Amino acid sequence: MKKYAMPIIMLVVFETIAITLWLTKDNLFYLFNFSYIGLSVSLGIFLFIRKYRHARRIVQLLVGLYMLVYLGLICNENMQIEGFWYYLFTGVFEAATIHYAVAKIFGPLIFGRGWCGYACWTAMVLDFLPYKVPKQPRRKLGWIRYITFSAALVFVAALFLAHAGNMERIMFWAFIIGNLLYYAAGIILAFAFRDNRAFCKYICPITVFLKPMSYFSLIRVKCDKEKCISCGKCKRVCPMNVDVTDNSRKRQNGTECILCMECVKNCPKGAL
Ligand code: SF4
Ligand code: SF4
Ligand code: SF4
Repeated sequence: MKKYAMPIIMLVVFETIAITLWLTKDNLFYLFNFSYIGLSVSLGIFLFIRKYRHARRIVQLLVGLYMLVYLGLICNENMQIEGFWYYLFTGVFEAATIHYAVAKIFGPLIFGRGWCGYACWTAMVLDFLPYKVPKQPRRKLGWIRYITFSAALVFVAALFLAHAGNMERIMFWAFIIGNLLYYAAGIILAFAFRDNRAFCKYICPITVFLKPMSYFSLIRVKCDKEKCISCGKCKRVCPMNVDVTDNSRKRQNGTECILCMECVKNCPKGAL
């Protein structure tokens, strides 16, 4: 039973969030929402422990499609970064603000960039592309994320300053158009740089939150130096170019780890 501690812990964490928000906000939706996500994540970890090779992809599809199709398209919730700014400006602690607080701002203190490995609906599509492991060296283009981050903030601030009408409708269309642009940019970059996760590395504005918070992450992949034979396989299979043999928090590309566990699965010595 001990090896199943992690899926049980994740289920308890998400159920605690679900019940707390349900009772404090008096809204049954939160109970359904976070229970569904918690069950999906726990199922994925359970399948991973059972060595099912598509475990991560199943969680990614369960959570990513739920957020994109149900919350985004059916419920008209803008869960992109402009939605976060919108709800923050209106002073409403709901939908995108709660989503960001849990998944992208405070959650990463516990589970790092697990969001990027198991739930993001942008990466859900990009991970179907052929370059699962980058075929070219990493480029120094990470500064672009600050431009996209600022652009989203300026866009929402401008709407408020202009007293734009029917903001909910604008946010819905911003969600549709924003997602289409993300997918287009992500697919073009993946083929141009021969790297499925190029969008995540250089463009994604959410990494402005995710990277600093995941630096302190409780859950991390660590290397047992006694077992490691320095074969380099872990780095060769890593989609995010992380040097996982270095246990320091300052390891190369450390805040890029998406906990996909490809390194763990491929280490010939079980050192990770
Ligand atoms: S970096 Fe951005 S696009 Fe990539 S998985 Fe994370 S949130 Fe999604
Ligand atoms: S794959 Fe395992 S043994 Fe090889 S370098 Fe990485 S941690 Fe060490
Ligand atoms: S391969 Fe290992 S180090 Fe690289 S992102 Fe996945 S879990 Fe993190």
